[in-house]
Amino acid sequence: MKIIVEGKTDRGIIRENNEDNFCILEKQPLYMVADGMGGHASGEIASKIAIDIIRDYFNNPDASRQLQIGEYREDYSETTNRLGSAIRLANQAIYEAAHTNPLWQGMGTTIVAALLNGKRLSIAHVGDSRIYLIRLGDIEQLTDDHSLVSEQVKREMITKEQARESKMKNVLTRALGVAPDVKVDLDELSLMQGDALLLCSDGLTTMLPDEDILSVVTSTMDPAIACEQLISLANENGGEDNITVITAYIKKESWFSSLFNVKKWFRR
Ligand code: CA
Repeated sequence: MKIIVEGKTDRGIIRENNEDNFCILEKQPLYMVADGMGGHASGEIASKIAIDIIRDYFNNPDASRQLQIGEYREDYSETTNRLGSAIRLANQAIYEAAHTNPLWQGMGTTIVAALLNGKRLSIAHVGDSRIYLIRLGDIEQLTDDHSLVSEQVKREMITKEQARESKMKNVLTRALGVAPDVKVDLDELSLMQGDALLLCSDGLTTMLPDEDILSVVTSTMDPAIACEQLISLANENGGEDNITVITAYIKKESWFSSLFNVKKWFRR
């Protein structure tokens, strides 16, 4: 499967620093976004530790293959379980770091990660950063926010629009680094040619409704342009928070390369 991917982060208009971090590992491929929180700019430290630990875990497959942290879920593939382990390892590292430096006390971060193994996509998240699947002109949020307003929407106490306006929208019900253990939400699905994936921090989704995200992603096949446009729209709408976006397009194979693959198959 041929994928073109790009990521971009922006401080936004209001905040003085950027506590988001992201990473694209093209080899695996693995995409991640982390949105840090905490006083004294420690949010930046927390999101960076999360990204670094998970990246190292997958860059060192021999060591990490032995390392199962937390429960092994038989209903998920080994790849998905490894992603869960890497995130739990990041949780421990942030939790421990927060206890070594008083300025880092209480720091934490969200994490959202997408790991591909052939056509199979493993996703994992903690917090309110999101993954969207854009398929056949539709947009679907693949992750459930671990936030107070998301709970309120689920219980039909408020609407999705009210959630985006709520003063409580930043209150998370789950984050990495705040406790020695964390529950990681995992999921798996198969990707198809022509799909697009979008990972983002809440600085995008609190400023832009899903329909606007969909129209930007479907208006181009260039991930750099999509990221650029999404960030400018979020800033035009107020840019109240740091904005991070990764966009990945699963390229459609042309009839020519399909034919080439058939030929290869016949030759075997
Ligand atoms: Ca944020």
